[in-house]
Amino acid sequence: MKSEPLLSPLIIAIDGPSASGKGTVARKLAAHFGFAHLDTGLLYRAAGTMARAAGVAAEEDAALTAFAEKLDMNALIARLDDPALRGDEAAKLASWVAPNQAVRSALLKFQRDFCAAPPEGKAGAVLDGRDIGTVIAPDAKVKIFITASAEARAQRRFKELQERGQKASYDAVLADMKARDARDAQRVLAPTKPASDAVMLDTTDLDAEQAFAEAVRIAEAKRMLCQP
Ligand code: C5P
Repeated sequence: MKSEPLLSPLIIAIDGPSASGKGTVARKLAAHFGFAHLDTGLLYRAAGTMARAAGVAAEEDAALTAFAEKLDMNALIARLDDPALRGDEAAKLASWVAPNQAVRSALLKFQRDFCAAPPEGKAGAVLDGRDIGTVIAPDAKVKIFITASAEARAQRRFKELQERGQKASYDAVLADMKARDARDAQRVLAPTKPASDAVMLDTTDLDAEQAFAEAVRIAEAKRMLCQP
């Protein structure tokens, strides 16, 4: 029987489309179990924003690849707290750079290192994104794929924008979200999809607390708390 090192960090992989509730669930799970949390979407948002700032234009694949091959990860990590990364423009830039192989490779090591040695010596890590259970951490003990209907997700996003005082139309939010999800799900490299051993969690009719409670139940059912 294969034995695992006693102290190998416990990884919880959370994947799903935009506004499915995965970010909130991941953050709450990390706090609940005392684990580190990495929102991997922020890495792509920062990479896209930096590529655009460096003058790479939309259709320039070769220029984007050259940019990614020289990507300064320290500079990228230093800007992860920038509130502008949470906006829709950064989301569009993220999904522009995300299909590029060199971009994904540049971000892979940081994510794998985060899993191998979570910050502050934490015993585990929760990562949320699109390819955590399939590519970044295929051996994760717990994998949850969070979904919700496109309408429910657009409604959440629309409400969030309104609360922030930003002008938005529900129809435009829905159309934008569907376009981004289709790009993320149909791309060749690391498309949004559940790992074969992921548990599906549909949050269409759940509020944030209910979704979190369900995720805790799933994680505990995977016996994560029985780890030494
Ligand atoms: O999760 P978030 O909406 O912040 O992600 C922004 C974009 O970054 C996604 O639409 C997707 O294109 C890309 N992404 C990715 N792989 C991840 C996380 C995000 O391709 N693990």
